Amino acid sequence: MKASDLYPREYFNFPEFKKEDLEHMDADFIVNLQRFRSLSAIPMTPSPAPGALWRTDTGCGQSQHCAVDRLSDACDLFPARGRELECFLKALQFPQFGGVGLYADTTLNGRRHIMIHLDSRPYSPLYKSVWLRAKGVYHGQMSKDFYKILHDMHKSIDRVVSMI
Ligand SMILES: [Zn+2]
Repeated sequence: MKASDLYPREYFNFPEFKKEDLEHMDADFIVNLQRFRSLSAIPMTPSPAPGALWRTDTGCGQSQHCAVDRLSDACDLFPARGRELECFLKALQFPQFGGVGLYADTTLNGRRHIMIHLDSRPYSPLYKSVWLRAKGVYHGQMSKDFYKILHDMHKSIDRVVSMI
């Protein structure tokens, strides 16, 4: 079911999603996303970048954002500064998310800001799809640099928080 067929009262922060976007989004995903945002109590700004909710470009078939012959069940968001890793850990524990990515190389309003990707792909109880991206390179959870990059992200967040 399209998210645009939901009743507005079922949303949290409804106005931030345009009706045109919701026509390409899976209703269950949007409801779960809003539940996650509410339960985590971490403020998150959906990315304003084109394709952050859905895309139809050629070859998008590998992406959960792809809305060709399906509805997108993915969203990219910017968690509040200083709470990005907390958001990542909470997303890993959230049963409805099978894919979680954390991006160190993204910006919001011209400033560096860690972004999270959330999607509801199917997953096994033992394995979610989890990745990090730094300097344009993706690192899966089995890659040798995964924890080093996570550590570097943690240090950069500490620096930002101490400047606030
Ligand atoms: Zn994404």
